[in-house]
Amino acid sequence: MADEKSMLETILDYNREFVDSKEYDNLSTDKYPNKELAILTCMDARIVELLPKAMGLKNGDAKVIKNAGALITHPWGAVMRSLLVAALEFNVKEIMVIGHTDCGMRGFDPEHLLDKARKFGITDATITTLRNAGIDLDGWLRGFDNVADSVRFTVDKIRNHPLMPGRVVVHGLVIHPTTGKLHTVVNGYVEHTNLLEELGEREIEDHD
Ligand SMILES: [Zn+2]
Repeated sequence: MADEKSMLETILDYNREFVDSKEYDNLSTDKYPNKELAILTCMDARIVELLPKAMGLKNGDAKVIKNAGALITHPWGAVMRSLLVAALEFNVKEIMVIGHTDCGMRGFDPEHLLDKARKFGITDATITTLRNAGIDLDGWLRGFDNVADSVRFTVDKIRNHPLMPGRVVVHGLVIHPTTGKLHTVVNGYVEHTNLLEELGEREIEDHD
């Protein structure tokens, strides 16, 4: 219908009212996360509100980084960089990697996604050219088999990153996308105690 509002118009109309009525007043905070916490989680729409509510988090409490599957696909990619900025620049002292059950990235097949791309008009020639250029499309697009294993793997990647300060505690959790129930996969405090022992004196100097 011609008079039906587009998504953009609907949102901009809502926004005008939101700002005019000063609804932002009770959300006001600063850029430093109040709980000194950063969260890496999935972009799944079911947990947009559920995750912070289920964790008792308010606006301003945590830095939240989201992507498909709560994954770190590259140690020098944007997710790892965001976590480093959070830890080094924004006083983040604890990181939580939070995967969820029934995740779209579990058992995700790169070839299936490439088939979808083909259906949207991406040619085989393009895909072949990318592969010939040395781009590991299958590795890059791959999901995971088991969410708990994936979370554990990601926690290790963060903790072992050469630029991540040893004092940052990294936890791993899995959330249920309907009930919000959290299940602990990695208790960062326990693992952190072991890490501090390994790091020895160097870490004691860094610790404040
Ligand atoms: Zn997911």
